[in-house]
Amino acid sequence: MSRKINFSAGPSALPLSVLQHAQNELTDYQGKGFSIMEISHRSKIFEEVHFGAMDKIRTLYGIGNEYEILFLQGGAHLQFSMIPMNLYQGGKAQYANTGVWTNKAIKEAQILGIKPDVVASSESDKFAYIPQINFSDDADYAYICSNNTIYGTQYKSLPKTKSPLVIDASSDFFSRPLDFSGIGLLYGGAQKNAGPSGVTVVIIRKDLIERVSNPNVPMFLRYKTHAEAKSLYNTPPTFGIYLLSLTMKWLLDQGGLSKIQAKNAAKSAMIYETIDGSNGFYKAHARTDSRSDMNVSFNVAVNAELEPVFVAQAESEGMLGLKGHRHLGGIRASIYNAVSEQDVKILVEFMKEFMKKHG
Ligand SMILES: *Cc1c(COP(=O)(O)O)cnc(C)c1O
Repeated sequence: MSRKINFSAGPSALPLSVLQHAQNELTDYQGKGFSIMEISHRSKIFEEVHFGAMDKIRTLYGIGNEYEILFLQGGAHLQFSMIPMNLYQGGKAQYANTGVWTNKAIKEAQILGIKPDVVASSESDKFAYIPQINFSDDADYAYICSNNTIYGTQYKSLPKTKSPLVIDASSDFFSRPLDFSGIGLLYGGAQKNAGPSGVTVVIIRKDLIERVSNPNVPMFLRYKTHAEAKSLYNTPPTFGIYLLSLTMKWLLDQGGLSKIQAKNAAKSAMIYETIDGSNGFYKAHARTDSRSDMNVSFNVAVNAELEPVFVAQAESEGMLGLKGHRHLGGIRASIYNAVSEQDVKILVEFMKEFMKKHG
């Protein structure tokens, strides 16, 4: 079997052992004679998978009973509107604008008739850094995106505020330990670091579930509905939750989030060192203080025409997904949890060879 080295931004690489585990029991789940896909979400067997996945998430992040874990659908995009629908109470809805994804969230709040208060933005510098942010302590919520997948920027620490911090963590979910003390809601689609697309994980502080003050919010779009039904209000994406659960198990087997964070930091450092040591051949998009450990966005600074050559040649050598996002162009290496240090070494060797040939 030959597997490519997968630097895709999302959906993205999953651990091979997770895929093989799923393959082994695809037609016969634990000797039961059926696939996990083929049984009721109300069955005991599925419930074990469902609640097992939630328990593992709690263990990984070390979160207690003051939070509820929800498995929803609609991706991060539905959260852009569910968050204001459920959390806005007529006060301040504050946002830090760090790119395309926060912009979309801001627009959704506007559609709902809210005037979002954008307290910080790095837009004038093509979102190359994480701005200084001063959230109020009395906002209904304070919204950030912890890792900006397109630009390759990431918060090194979370902003301090007494307002409930709401975090789009789609692209750095489960990549590092987090201090939950200020977090009101943390969410992300599974497809970047936690499983396949189709499941959105929402970790929400219990007092916020009760908020929905607007009676016009449909039942299905209320966190309360899903919390009360333990995310079994209607048929959830059962196979996605099963793969999410296997991926959470893999993370625990790796030693948990501190171990994973150390690996991720070592991986990104290899690429940034190569960029910084290239005498201007390569240039990272993100400012040094804001660089992401998950997505490294960079340019072939000496000659942008070499970028498609870089991407095509890497692909012919078995490395996929290196083309930058259409909003930014250039090259992007997404090095999520399932991308190994060995995979990154191969990329770095390629980068050095490419520079020798074209520098
Ligand atoms: C990919 C991504 C999204 C969009 O996710 P969907 O699940 O496709 O809606 C939103 N925010 C961030 C930070 C992302 O990386």
